[in-house]
Amino acid sequence: MAHPTASFRCFQGCAGTFPLTTAIYRCPTCDGLLEVAHDLDVLKKTSGDEWRALFDERWAATSNVKGAPTSGVWSKREWVAPEVPDDAVVTTGEGMTPLYPARRLAAELGFGELLVKQCGTTHTGSFKDLGMTVLVSVVNHAMRSGALSVRAIACASTGDTSAALAAYGAAAGLPVVVLLPRGMVSVAQLVQPLAHGAKVLALETDFDGCMAVVSELAKRGLVYLANSMNPLRIEGQKTVALEIAQQLGWDVPEWVVIPSGNMGNAAALFAGFTMAKELGLTTKLPRLCIAQAAKANPMYRAFIAGAEEVTPIVAEQTQASAIRIGNPVSAPRAMRALRGMNGVVEEATESELADACARADRTGLYADPHTGVAIACARKLRERGVIGATERVVVVSTASALKFTELKLAYHESKLPDVPTPLANAPVDLPPDVDIVAKNLA
Ligand SMILES: *Cc1c(COP(=O)(O)O)cnc(C)c1O
Ligand SMILES: [Zn+2]
Repeated sequence: MAHPTASFRCFQGCAGTFPLTTAIYRCPTCDGLLEVAHDLDVLKKTSGDEWRALFDERWAATSNVKGAPTSGVWSKREWVAPEVPDDAVVTTGEGMTPLYPARRLAAELGFGELLVKQCGTTHTGSFKDLGMTVLVSVVNHAMRSGALSVRAIACASTGDTSAALAAYGAAAGLPVVVLLPRGMVSVAQLVQPLAHGAKVLALETDFDGCMAVVSELAKRGLVYLANSMNPLRIEGQKTVALEIAQQLGWDVPEWVVIPSGNMGNAAALFAGFTMAKELGLTTKLPRLCIAQAAKANPMYRAFIAGAEEVTPIVAEQTQASAIRIGNPVSAPRAMRALRGMNGVVEEATESELADACARADRTGLYADPHTGVAIACARKLRERGVIGATERVVVVSTASALKFTELKLAYHESKLPDVPTPLANAPVDLPPDVDIVAKNLA
């Protein structure tokens, strides 16, 4: 088979392509977003049946990259970043996360079937690993082959992007700079890049302010940009869609619900499900629900207004700190995903998302606040009948709740301002006396 290839091209369709090893983040003609274009004619020489068999075989294998653990991303490398050689791949064995059937939660909330794609059970505790393994591997390859010279890889982050970039950068031995909004990320998320030796710059602004600074640094050629404006991230993240289909026996659910901030992940789901259909592995696309926190809801506002473009807002404080974004970089990509997947946008208040987390946790999940936003939005769509009683719904869980311990504790100690906590379960202090303890067992 001819070797598959991929390159950058303008998302809006301007002429020209650029090698993936180029440091380019916007179309030189229209200044719009870029996307990765795959040579589908080459990929189509392999039939849908053959791809399914190959991907299933690799899922079961112990390694897909010489000397590295199995990876959900690199087991689909022809579709992701086909030209990166084994020895340039930087992987921690990301992906292949469980698709957990949340039966008790489904019964409680009235879903026919509710599955949770557990993207947080991965190396740095969020789905950001999926995109970062691709981006850092491409940079590693480009630097080794002399196509690129980079002083540092940099990102603006609400916490999880910087954790992933710092880990993969450290694994590759590449310098990393992260820009965080001061005081707005959890302790766990702040510690991760510190521990990996990244240069952590805490700026007195919000995420959107950090994004503006890092974009300008990249434009000036001072750093290589690792935010999801860079479509290499989306190539890795689209494997979430491929994995969901694969885990359902190469079928798709009726709905996929994703908590969204900068909107790269929503675009990635569309890219993945579309590619699976075009290459004959599946026959349809699921419907998409973009789930936003009501405190940071520019996409929801555009959807309700029937607008084609998103008007930036100043995002307010929310428990779902990783999606506190007022000016989503991938908004045009998400608009296309909504159109292509007959999608909707829903929002969840602080009380709704906290309640969703607490209920989910009571059924054995451990939901981070972003997953709480997605569950709460799915619940609202189910209650309004937009999601039908027998439909199969996949909620994408984007991070491990272990990153949000302070928040969980605040809920259970009923210390969240303006958030009712009916499921609070605070510890009971007792003397070490058998009779007193015996009276407190239930
Ligand atoms: C980054 C992130 C999101 C938002 O993803 P986008 O692609 O920016 O929409 C959601 N949840 C968590 C936990 C994240 O880290
Ligand atoms: Zn263009």
